[in-house]
Amino acid sequence: MESEFVITIDGPAGSGKSTIAKKLADKIGFLYLDTGAMYRSVAYISIEYNRDPVEVASNLDFEILESKNGDKFIANGTDVTSKIRTHEIDDKVSKISSIREVRKHLVKIQRKFAKNKKIVIEGRDTGTVVFPDADLKFYLDASIEIRAKRRYNQKNEKKLTNDSFSLEKIKNKIKKRDNSDKNREWGALKKPDDAYVIDTTSLSKKEVLKEILSYLAEYEY
Ligand code: C5P
Repeated sequence: MESEFVITIDGPAGSGKSTIAKKLADKIGFLYLDTGAMYRSVAYISIEYNRDPVEVASNLDFEILESKNGDKFIANGTDVTSKIRTHEIDDKVSKISSIREVRKHLVKIQRKFAKNKKIVIEGRDTGTVVFPDADLKFYLDASIEIRAKRRYNQKNEKKLTNDSFSLEKIKNKIKKRDNSDKNREWGALKKPDDAYVIDTTSLSKKEVLKEILSYLAEYEY
């Protein structure tokens, strides 16, 4: 049986955690789990099919498949990769992720997914609630200006959506989502006490990865 080694990366929207978590996992041969994509999938399915989010979360079948053009996110057998990145889902996901029963179901799925695996898992509560005893924890943060700019570029470059918004509007939307993610009653975004904090404001992806790998060098995994 493979031994478990869990690395958690938490942080607010646009802090760089998804990109870094994926690069790190690829580099060290770990599995990768984007928990934000799971909350987004529950939001998308419940809105699109008018279903109760708790019921959707309780049966969510979620996979991340690697492909030449980047990862594909599959929820209940459907490719939701671009469907979960719209402005509508950005706006509605926080409300759905604040429902206690939704969180309870998804945390259970996340723990099961990681059982006996070597994994990099990223989100808002992965080092505090999902894996409080993780082997290594990181908390990434950055200024609101740079986080908004990254999201703006991401949406435009990847043409993830047809709906485009100004940088200022994206900044306000991120602030609103941060506020709701930080102040909810369960699974709020917060720095784990024992996490390494990295401010990515003026760092390149390569530099962030290098810093994470330097901490990891002290561990056997
Ligand atoms: O990371 P991403 O921006 O894709 O996350 C989307 C939303 O999912 C967050 O704003 C938050 O409301 C929710 N989320 C969460 N807990 C996690 C990961 C994401 O509540 N562990």
